[in-house]
Amino acid sequence: MSGSRLDQKRTKIVATIGPASSDEQTLRAIIRGGMNVARINFSHGELVIHGETIDRIRHVAREENEVVAIMCDLQGPKIRIGQIRQEPLELDQGDSVRLTLNASLANSDRHTLLLPHPEFMRDVHQGMPLLLDDGDLEFLVTARDEETLTCRVITGGVLYSRKGVTAPTAHLTLSAITDKDREDLKFALQKQTDFVALSFVRSGRDLQDLRSLIDESGCEVDPWLIAKIEKREALQNIEEIVAESDGIMVARGDLGVETPAEEVPGHQKHIIRLCNQAGKPVITATQMLNSMVESPRPTRAEASDVYNAIMDGSDAVMLSNETAVGSYPVISVETMASIAVIAERALLSGWTPGRIQAHPDHEERERMSDAISEATSRIAAVLDCRAIVTSTHSGYTTRQIARERSRTPILCVTPSDHIFRRMALVWGVIPMLVPHFSTTDEMIGTVVRAANRAGMVERGHRLVIIAGVPFGIGGQTNFLKVHVVGEADEL
Ligand code: PGA
Ligand code: MN
Repeated sequence: MSGSRLDQKRTKIVATIGPASSDEQTLRAIIRGGMNVARINFSHGELVIHGETIDRIRHVAREENEVVAIMCDLQGPKIRIGQIRQEPLELDQGDSVRLTLNASLANSDRHTLLLPHPEFMRDVHQGMPLLLDDGDLEFLVTARDEETLTCRVITGGVLYSRKGVTAPTAHLTLSAITDKDREDLKFALQKQTDFVALSFVRSGRDLQDLRSLIDESGCEVDPWLIAKIEKREALQNIEEIVAESDGIMVARGDLGVETPAEEVPGHQKHIIRLCNQAGKPVITATQMLNSMVESPRPTRAEASDVYNAIMDGSDAVMLSNETAVGSYPVISVETMASIAVIAERALLSGWTPGRIQAHPDHEERERMSDAISEATSRIAAVLDCRAIVTSTHSGYTTRQIARERSRTPILCVTPSDHIFRRMALVWGVIPMLVPHFSTTDEMIGTVVRAANRAGMVERGHRLVIIAGVPFGIGGQTNFLKVHVVGEADEL
């Protein structure tokens, strides 16, 4: 392995794997192009196929000697209309439409449609707007009875079967985790997923429920939980959601339906800042290079979007349809990677907002970690250190230093296979798996040897090593050493 590992792109790329990208050859090219996390979208496709895809991704990643983590993305309570008998259905402003639970009433005339979600219907009242097909059509509920909503079309359009419905002003009491999600989760855990993403999260409670389900399953894995922020209620409860999750996705697709699209950029910046302060990885997602579904070149606006999301502080940027069903999955990843490298150059050249501080009213332990992280970044720059080495069992120390957006590369040296792969989502971190260590001397020896074997350091190079001592407890950073790789080191 060459020293160039230290020069690689810092921003992580999440790519959704689907029919356009699940064959071995495309996966290999996508991994070479810079994918760090493969997202499996459980809103589409069958479990058997997902399982085969996950196995294939791992197989190719191993052959390529790359770390690729798996993110299983649960559909969540996505509400959809049923089958439309004669589709497409064209609706004009002012038309009257009925949405009904009653399967025998549905399709009795062209404007009576099935909406097979009693738990959703319960919370929708007269006077509420409904948005269909990602907000392209708008209805207003003018009347309701036990099983049917009568609506007037406010914005018309063409409607197809199984399109999504949202009620942005309703307070929905339905569970964030559906029966389908439970089945999918069981499968994802069997497949040892690294991350579980939960759609349409509303509060910290939803994450607690997901965690309990995972605990109850008795599985060995302990995936990081990623909360997808795509509801108004999630914005209101954002601080507790960040606290309860291991990472956040700014899910702009549905967020731009649930709130006006023009408000999405502001939400994006706010959510990213909160995550940076908390030292939790944050992904900016959806439509980043959307035109590349059909074209081999991004628009100028898309290139700007990726660049700006990185400037905002995203740990990772995500591709959805571009890689899952698009015509140019490999070029999409390569394009995203090259925009990222250019953005990072600017980010690290110092003219941008600078370091992101931990939340000012955090407790003592966190302030200590934050102070050490800040000092580390500075020491590494002043002493021209080759790398910042974080030794961690829990990933905490590494997540803290990542928010410094330090010019010096960060190595995450860990004996935990779990943490090793979770780092695929953390900005600027190069993970390295090492044998277990228990004393600080052992740790330093292990770290230096591992970095040397990976071709990253040689005698004479300086390293800053930080850790939380005693090892294995996690949640604090209290150890810092500047180490000159020398004769005394066994390499
Ligand atoms: P989805 O989530 O692709 O699963 O809908 C992302 C988003 O809504 O932006
Ligand atoms: Mn979504």
